[in-house]
Amino acid sequence: MHRSIYLLLFIAVSCSNPPKTTPVSVSTSTGPLTAPAPIVMPHDAAMEKHVMGLFEPAEDPRFVLVNPSHADKKGLYLHQDTYGAFLKMYGAARSAGIKLQIRSATRNFKYQKGIWERKWTGETILSNGEDASKVYPNSYDRAKKILEYSSMPGTSRHHWGTDIDLNNFNNSWFESGEGLVLFNWLEANAHTYGFCRPYTLKDASRPEGYNEEKWHWSYTPLANKLTAYAEAHLEDKMITGFMGSEVADSLDVVQKYVLGINRGCVH
Ligand SMILES: [Zn+2]
Repeated sequence: MHRSIYLLLFIAVSCSNPPKTTPVSVSTSTGPLTAPAPIVMPHDAAMEKHVMGLFEPAEDPRFVLVNPSHADKKGLYLHQDTYGAFLKMYGAARSAGIKLQIRSATRNFKYQKGIWERKWTGETILSNGEDASKVYPNSYDRAKKILEYSSMPGTSRHHWGTDIDLNNFNNSWFESGEGLVLFNWLEANAHTYGFCRPYTLKDASRPEGYNEEKWHWSYTPLANKLTAYAEAHLEDKMITGFMGSEVADSLDVVQKYVLGINRGCVH
């Protein structure tokens, strides 16, 4: 066959088989609504280390030392964004005659492991006076008891540099006198500076997680990004490397504790 005939045949075949195209739906204001595509948060190794506290705040340029005049001790660190917001809140509280004092700030995995394991072995007695190692011989029961107030290493919001404990570690202190004045001021004003209380009273809206902590406040513009990352990528099987970590999965720690927060802080 002559070359030109081949060419003509090729053109004819091509024209009779136009490339298939996927129909494109055009949404109109009167047309049916389609669900928006879910926002996919990509895996990010640096973000994962931040969420799990696998870093040294003193060596991380994003973290700054807290001035001891704002705390009860030296050597506390916060993420620079959190500390900037705290300073504004501190100043406003001072103008209202209230003195905020940071009692705890960033605690990395290593630090939290120390807290957790001292409670696990009974070296630290629980706030109710119990020696967890004696009262709860079963690992699941012991971890669940410690989890009333303390996080498993790798799951604490204190890893993030966004969370602070203020003034006193007893809820009752915030329920009368000076403590109540301070608490009421924070409840009314902390949100102006980006702070929210993640561990509110456990009730139908927050059935799982840590007990109420009237002292614990979270800087949400940053913390909510880390919460979203944890929701997308943190899994119970990643929570390992300390005494009792084998029950992290059966306790559903990520869902019930990391995400068991006052949802009002997230929305
Ligand atoms: Zn706390």
